[in-house]
Amino acid sequence: MLNRSRDGEFFRDMVDGGVVWDNHICMPLNPGADRFLPQLERCFEAGVDLVTIPVGYDSRAIEDHVRMLALFRSFIARNPEKYQLVLSVEDIARARQTGKLGICFDIEGMNAVSEQPDMVRLYYDLGVRWMLIAYNRANGAGGGCLEDDHGLTSFGKKVISEMNQVGMVLCCTHAGYRTAREAIDFSFGPIIFSHSNPRSVWNHPRNIPDDLIVACAERGGVIGLNGIGIFLGENDASIDTFIRHVEHVLELVGDDHIGIGTDYAFDQDDVIQTILKSPEVFPPDLFPPGVGIAMIPPWHLVNVAKELADRGHSNDTVRKLFGGNLLRVARQVWK
Ligand SMILES: [Zn+2]
Repeated sequence: MLNRSRDGEFFRDMVDGGVVWDNHICMPLNPGADRFLPQLERCFEAGVDLVTIPVGYDSRAIEDHVRMLALFRSFIARNPEKYQLVLSVEDIARARQTGKLGICFDIEGMNAVSEQPDMVRLYYDLGVRWMLIAYNRANGAGGGCLEDDHGLTSFGKKVISEMNQVGMVLCCTHAGYRTAREAIDFSFGPIIFSHSNPRSVWNHPRNIPDDLIVACAERGGVIGLNGIGIFLGENDASIDTFIRHVEHVLELVGDDHIGIGTDYAFDQDDVIQTILKSPEVFPPDLFPPGVGIAMIPPWHLVNVAKELADRGHSNDTVRKLFGGNLLRVARQVWK
Protein backbone atom coordinates (compact mmCIF):
# COMPACT_ATOMS: atom_id res chain seq x y z
CA MET A 1 0.00 0.00 0.00
CA LEU A 2 1.21 3.51 -0.85
CA ASN A 3 0.58 6.63 1.21
CA ARG A 4 -0.75 10.07 0.32
CA SER A 5 1.07 13.25 1.28
CA ARG A 6 -0.85 16.07 2.96
CA ASP A 7 -1.24 17.71 -0.46
CA GLY A 8 -2.41 14.39 -1.85
CA GLU A 9 -5.10 14.08 0.84
CA PHE A 10 -6.16 17.64 0.11
CA PHE A 11 -6.47 16.80 -3.60
CA ARG A 12 -8.55 13.74 -2.73
CA ASP A 13 -10.91 15.91 -0.68
CA MET A 14 -11.26 18.35 -3.56
CA VAL A 15 -12.30 15.70 -6.06
CA ASP A 16 -14.56 14.20 -3.39
CA GLY A 17 -14.54 10.55 -4.38
CA GLY A 18 -13.58 11.17 -8.03
CA VAL A 19 -10.71 9.47 -9.80
CA VAL A 20 -7.52 11.46 -10.57
CA TRP A 21 -6.11 10.21 -13.85
CA ASP A 22 -3.01 11.47 -15.67
CA ASN A 23 -3.65 9.92 -19.08
CA HIS A 24 -0.09 10.26 -20.48
CA ILE A 25 3.20 10.23 -18.56
CA CYS A 26 6.42 9.12 -20.19
CA MET A 27 9.13 6.73 -19.10
CA PRO A 28 12.23 6.35 -21.31
CA LEU A 29 11.49 3.69 -23.93
CA ASN A 30 14.46 1.51 -23.07
CA PRO A 31 15.61 -0.76 -20.22
CA GLY A 32 16.74 2.39 -18.37
CA ALA A 33 13.06 2.93 -17.53
CA ASP A 34 13.63 0.58 -14.57
CA ARG A 35 15.55 3.36 -12.82
CA PHE A 36 12.65 5.80 -13.10
CA LEU A 37 9.66 3.54 -12.42
CA PRO A 38 9.93 3.81 -8.60
CA GLN A 39 9.20 7.56 -9.01
CA LEU A 40 5.61 6.58 -9.85
CA GLU A 41 5.09 6.51 -6.08
CA ARG A 42 5.29 10.30 -6.15
CA CYS A 43 2.19 10.40 -8.36
CA PHE A 44 0.20 8.40 -5.84
CA GLU A 45 1.48 10.44 -2.90
CA ALA A 46 0.31 13.62 -4.64
CA GLY A 47 -3.24 12.34 -5.08
CA VAL A 48 -3.13 10.60 -8.49
CA ASP A 49 -5.03 7.27 -8.77
CA LEU A 50 -4.24 6.15 -12.27
CA VAL A 51 -1.58 6.83 -14.93
CA THR A 52 -1.34 5.84 -18.59
CA ILE A 53 2.20 5.17 -19.84
CA PRO A 54 3.16 5.04 -23.55
CA VAL A 55 4.98 1.89 -24.70
CA GLY A 56 6.05 3.22 -28.10
CA TYR A 57 5.47 5.59 -30.99
CA ASP A 58 5.74 5.48 -34.78
CA SER A 59 9.55 5.39 -34.89
CA ARG A 60 9.60 2.10 -32.93
CA ALA A 61 9.17 -1.46 -34.18
CA ILE A 62 6.53 -3.88 -32.90
CA GLU A 63 9.22 -5.72 -30.96
CA ASP A 64 10.12 -2.51 -29.09
CA HIS A 65 6.50 -2.00 -28.07
CA VAL A 66 6.23 -5.57 -26.80
CA ARG A 67 9.54 -5.30 -24.91
CA MET A 68 8.36 -2.14 -23.12
CA LEU A 69 5.07 -3.83 -22.22
CA ALA A 70 7.08 -6.73 -20.80
CA LEU A 71 9.26 -4.38 -18.75
CA PHE A 72 6.37 -2.30 -17.32
CA ARG A 73 4.15 -5.31 -16.64
CA SER A 74 6.96 -7.09 -14.90
CA PHE A 75 7.59 -4.03 -12.70
CA ILE A 76 3.91 -4.02 -11.68
CA ALA A 77 3.97 -7.77 -11.01
CA ARG A 78 7.08 -7.43 -8.82
CA ASN A 79 5.42 -4.70 -6.72
CA PRO A 80 1.86 -5.98 -6.18
CA GLU A 81 1.46 -4.08 -2.90
CA LYS A 82 1.98 -0.74 -4.68
CA TYR A 83 0.68 -1.04 -8.24
CA GLN A 84 -2.36 -2.43 -10.01
CA LEU A 85 -2.40 -3.27 -13.72
CA VAL A 86 -5.64 -1.71 -14.94
CA LEU A 87 -7.51 -3.75 -17.56
CA SER A 88 -11.07 -2.72 -16.66
CA VAL A 89 -13.06 0.02 -14.97
CA GLU A 90 -13.43 -2.35 -12.01
CA ASP A 91 -9.63 -2.48 -11.73
CA ILE A 92 -9.59 1.30 -11.27
CA ALA A 93 -11.94 0.96 -8.29
CA ARG A 94 -9.90 -1.98 -6.96
CA ALA A 95 -6.68 0.03 -7.09
CA ARG A 96 -8.30 2.86 -5.15
CA GLN A 97 -9.81 0.57 -2.52
CA THR A 98 -6.47 -1.10 -1.88
CA GLY A 99 -4.28 2.03 -1.85
CA LYS A 100 -2.39 1.27 -5.07
CA LEU A 101 -1.52 3.30 -8.15
CA GLY A 102 -3.37 2.01 -11.22
CA ILE A 103 -1.36 1.71 -14.44
CA CYS A 104 -2.45 1.17 -18.04
CA PHE A 105 -0.70 1.86 -21.34
CA ASP A 106 -0.98 3.72 -24.63
CA ILE A 107 0.63 3.65 -28.09
CA GLU A 108 1.50 6.75 -30.11
CA GLY A 109 0.97 5.75 -33.72
CA MET A 110 -0.44 2.92 -35.79
CA ASN A 111 2.95 1.77 -37.11
CA ALA A 112 2.79 -0.41 -33.99
CA VAL A 113 0.14 -2.44 -35.79
CA SER A 114 2.18 -2.72 -38.98
CA GLU A 115 -0.01 -4.43 -41.60
CA GLN A 116 -1.84 -6.53 -39.08
CA PRO A 117 -4.93 -4.93 -37.49
CA ASP A 118 -5.40 -7.93 -35.21
CA MET A 119 -2.33 -6.69 -33.30
CA VAL A 120 -4.84 -4.30 -31.70
CA ARG A 121 -6.38 -7.12 -29.69
CA LEU A 122 -3.00 -8.38 -28.50
CA TYR A 123 -2.02 -4.90 -27.30
CA TYR A 124 -5.41 -4.51 -25.65
CA ASP A 125 -5.01 -7.81 -23.80
CA LEU A 126 -1.63 -6.58 -22.54
CA GLY A 127 -3.13 -3.37 -21.11
CA VAL A 128 -3.02 -0.78 -23.93
CA ARG A 129 -6.17 1.34 -23.55
CA TRP A 130 -5.72 4.00 -26.24
CA MET A 131 -3.77 4.41 -29.47
CA LEU A 132 -3.29 7.43 -31.72
CA ILE A 133 -3.13 7.46 -35.50
CA ALA A 134 0.12 9.10 -36.64
CA TYR A 135 2.98 10.68 -34.71
CA ASN A 136 3.74 14.14 -36.19
CA ARG A 137 4.51 12.57 -39.64
CA ALA A 138 2.38 10.48 -42.01
CA ASN A 139 2.29 6.70 -41.73
CA GLY A 140 0.19 4.00 -43.42
CA ALA A 141 -2.87 5.05 -41.40
CA GLY A 142 -2.98 8.81 -41.85
CA GLY A 143 -1.27 12.18 -41.73
CA GLY A 144 0.71 13.83 -38.94
CA CYS A 145 0.32 17.34 -37.55
CA LEU A 146 3.64 18.66 -38.93
CA GLU A 147 2.96 18.37 -42.67
CA ASP A 148 0.41 18.45 -45.46
CA ASP A 149 -2.10 15.86 -44.46
CA HIS A 150 -3.76 13.60 -47.05
CA GLY A 151 -6.29 12.20 -44.61
CA LEU A 152 -7.19 8.89 -43.05
CA THR A 153 -6.27 5.89 -45.26
CA SER A 154 -8.25 2.70 -45.80
CA PHE A 155 -5.71 0.93 -43.57
CA GLY A 156 -6.31 3.59 -40.88
CA LYS A 157 -10.03 2.86 -41.13
CA LYS A 158 -9.40 -0.87 -40.72
CA VAL A 159 -7.38 -0.27 -37.57
CA ILE A 160 -10.03 2.06 -36.13
CA SER A 161 -12.76 -0.50 -36.86
CA GLU A 162 -10.72 -3.12 -35.02
CA MET A 163 -10.20 -0.72 -32.08
CA ASN A 164 -13.95 -0.07 -31.96
CA GLN A 165 -14.54 -3.83 -31.88
CA VAL A 166 -11.94 -4.53 -29.24
CA GLY A 167 -12.75 -1.56 -26.97
CA MET A 168 -9.56 0.45 -27.39
CA VAL A 169 -10.05 4.25 -27.30
CA LEU A 170 -9.04 6.18 -30.42
CA CYS A 171 -6.83 9.22 -29.82
CA CYS A 172 -6.26 11.98 -32.40
CA THR A 173 -3.32 13.77 -30.73
CA HIS A 174 -0.28 14.21 -33.05
CA ALA A 175 -2.48 13.61 -36.15
CA GLY A 176 -2.91 16.06 -39.00
CA TYR A 177 -6.04 18.19 -39.14
CA ARG A 178 -7.75 16.35 -41.99
CA THR A 179 -6.90 12.92 -40.59
CA ALA A 180 -8.26 13.88 -37.15
CA ARG A 181 -11.42 15.30 -38.69
CA GLU A 182 -12.03 12.16 -40.80
CA ALA A 183 -11.24 9.85 -37.88
CA ILE A 184 -13.72 11.65 -35.62
CA ASP A 185 -16.38 11.16 -38.31
CA PHE A 186 -15.44 7.54 -39.00
CA SER A 187 -14.91 6.14 -35.51
CA PHE A 188 -17.81 4.77 -33.53
CA GLY A 189 -18.37 6.36 -30.13
CA PRO A 190 -16.28 8.95 -28.27
CA ILE A 191 -12.68 9.69 -29.20
CA ILE A 192 -10.05 11.59 -27.23
CA PHE A 193 -7.22 14.01 -27.76
CA SER A 194 -5.13 12.53 -24.95
CA HIS A 195 -2.52 15.33 -24.75
CA SER A 196 -3.31 18.32 -27.00
CA ASN A 197 -3.59 22.00 -26.10
CA PRO A 198 -5.72 24.66 -27.84
CA ARG A 199 -3.96 26.43 -30.68
CA SER A 200 -5.97 29.59 -30.14
CA VAL A 201 -4.20 30.04 -26.76
CA TRP A 202 -0.71 29.18 -28.08
CA ASN A 203 0.01 28.86 -31.77
CA HIS A 204 2.05 25.67 -32.27
CA PRO A 205 1.30 23.04 -34.94
CA ARG A 206 1.16 20.34 -32.23
CA ASN A 207 -1.79 22.23 -30.72
CA ILE A 208 -5.30 21.84 -32.08
CA PRO A 209 -7.76 24.39 -33.52
CA ASP A 210 -11.04 25.12 -31.77
CA ASP A 211 -13.18 23.31 -34.34
CA LEU A 212 -11.44 19.98 -33.57
CA ILE A 213 -12.06 20.57 -29.86
CA VAL A 214 -15.73 21.19 -30.60
CA ALA A 215 -15.97 18.14 -32.91
CA CYS A 216 -14.40 15.93 -30.21
CA ALA A 217 -16.83 17.26 -27.60
CA GLU A 218 -19.83 16.77 -29.90
CA ARG A 219 -18.94 13.07 -30.08
CA GLY A 220 -18.83 12.84 -26.29
CA GLY A 221 -15.02 12.77 -26.20
CA VAL A 222 -12.36 14.35 -24.00
CA ILE A 223 -9.59 16.84 -24.77
CA GLY A 224 -6.67 16.13 -22.43
CA LEU A 225 -4.37 19.07 -21.78
CA ASN A 226 -0.63 18.58 -21.49
CA GLY A 227 1.84 20.41 -19.26
CA ILE A 228 4.62 20.84 -21.82
CA GLY A 229 6.11 24.35 -21.81
CA ILE A 230 6.55 24.70 -25.58
CA PHE A 231 2.90 23.71 -26.19
CA LEU A 232 1.62 26.02 -23.44
CA GLY A 233 3.63 29.14 -24.33
CA GLU A 234 7.22 30.33 -24.60
CA ASN A 235 8.52 27.15 -22.90
CA ASP A 236 6.27 28.21 -20.05
CA ALA A 237 5.02 25.45 -17.76
CA SER A 238 3.63 27.76 -15.09
CA ILE A 239 0.34 26.91 -13.41
CA ASP A 240 -1.14 30.26 -14.53
CA THR A 241 -0.44 29.53 -18.19
CA PHE A 242 -1.78 25.99 -17.89
CA ILE A 243 -4.98 27.39 -16.42
CA ARG A 244 -5.41 29.73 -19.41
CA HIS A 245 -5.58 26.61 -21.58
CA VAL A 246 -7.98 24.89 -19.18
CA GLU A 247 -10.30 27.89 -19.07
CA HIS A 248 -10.29 28.25 -22.84
CA VAL A 249 -11.50 24.66 -23.29
CA LEU A 250 -14.06 25.10 -20.48
CA GLU A 251 -15.43 28.21 -22.18
CA LEU A 252 -15.54 26.52 -25.56
CA VAL A 253 -17.17 23.16 -24.73
CA GLY A 254 -18.05 23.16 -21.01
CA ASP A 255 -16.70 20.89 -18.28
CA ASP A 256 -17.81 17.49 -19.64
CA HIS A 257 -15.04 17.22 -22.25
CA ILE A 258 -11.78 18.10 -20.59
CA GLY A 259 -9.09 15.91 -19.05
CA ILE A 260 -5.37 15.70 -18.26
CA GLY A 261 -2.44 14.00 -20.00
CA THR A 262 0.56 15.91 -18.65
CA ASP A 263 3.09 14.24 -21.03
CA TYR A 264 5.58 14.62 -18.19
CA ALA A 265 8.87 12.84 -19.00
CA PHE A 266 10.70 11.26 -16.08
CA ASP A 267 14.02 11.14 -17.95
CA GLN A 268 14.70 14.64 -19.28
CA ASP A 269 18.05 13.62 -20.83
CA ASP A 270 16.31 10.92 -22.82
CA VAL A 271 13.87 13.54 -24.17
CA ILE A 272 16.71 15.77 -25.35
CA GLN A 273 18.56 12.85 -26.97
CA THR A 274 15.39 11.62 -28.68
CA ILE A 275 14.69 15.09 -30.11
CA LEU A 276 18.27 15.52 -31.31
CA LYS A 277 18.33 12.10 -32.97
CA SER A 278 15.11 12.57 -34.96
CA PRO A 279 14.96 16.06 -36.51
CA GLU A 280 12.40 14.88 -39.07
CA VAL A 281 9.95 13.96 -36.28
CA PHE A 282 11.00 16.85 -33.99
CA PRO A 283 12.09 19.78 -36.23
CA PRO A 284 14.52 21.99 -34.23
CA ASP A 285 12.55 25.19 -34.89
CA LEU A 286 9.46 23.65 -33.26
CA PHE A 287 11.24 21.54 -30.60
CA PRO A 288 14.20 23.59 -29.32
CA PRO A 289 16.24 20.86 -27.63
CA GLY A 290 19.14 22.78 -26.11
CA VAL A 291 17.20 24.68 -23.48
CA GLY A 292 15.51 21.72 -21.85
CA ILE A 293 11.73 21.62 -22.03
CA ALA A 294 9.73 22.90 -19.05
CA MET A 295 7.05 20.48 -17.83
CA ILE A 296 4.35 20.26 -15.17
CA PRO A 297 4.89 17.03 -13.24
CA PRO A 298 1.82 15.04 -12.17
CA TRP A 299 2.65 15.79 -8.53
CA HIS A 300 1.95 19.48 -9.20
CA LEU A 301 -1.59 18.86 -10.46
CA VAL A 302 -2.84 19.49 -6.94
CA ASN A 303 -1.65 23.09 -7.35
CA VAL A 304 -3.70 23.39 -10.54
CA ALA A 305 -6.73 22.12 -8.61
CA LYS A 306 -6.16 24.63 -5.79
CA GLU A 307 -5.81 27.52 -8.25
CA LEU A 308 -8.97 26.51 -10.10
CA ALA A 309 -10.88 26.45 -6.81
CA ASP A 310 -9.50 29.89 -5.93
CA ARG A 311 -10.74 31.15 -9.28
CA GLY A 312 -14.26 30.01 -8.49
CA HIS A 313 -14.46 26.72 -10.38
CA SER A 314 -16.70 24.19 -8.69
CA ASN A 315 -15.59 20.89 -7.16
CA ASP A 316 -17.69 19.22 -9.81
CA THR A 317 -15.67 20.86 -12.60
CA VAL A 318 -12.42 19.92 -10.85
CA ARG A 319 -13.58 16.31 -10.48
CA LYS A 320 -14.51 16.05 -14.16
CA LEU A 321 -11.27 17.67 -15.34
CA PHE A 322 -8.94 15.44 -13.33
CA GLY A 323 -10.47 12.12 -14.37
CA GLY A 324 -14.25 12.07 -14.19
CA ASN A 325 -14.66 12.62 -17.92
CA LEU A 326 -12.01 10.07 -18.89
CA LEU A 327 -13.70 7.55 -16.62
CA ARG A 328 -16.96 8.13 -18.48
CA VAL A 329 -15.22 7.44 -21.82
CA ALA A 330 -13.56 4.29 -20.39
CA ARG A 331 -16.96 3.02 -19.24
CA GLN A 332 -18.37 3.61 -22.71
CA VAL A 333 -15.52 2.17 -24.78
CA TRP A 334 -13.52 -0.44 -22.80
CA LYS A 335 -14.83 -3.99 -23.01
ZN1 LIG B 1 2.85 12.56 -27.55
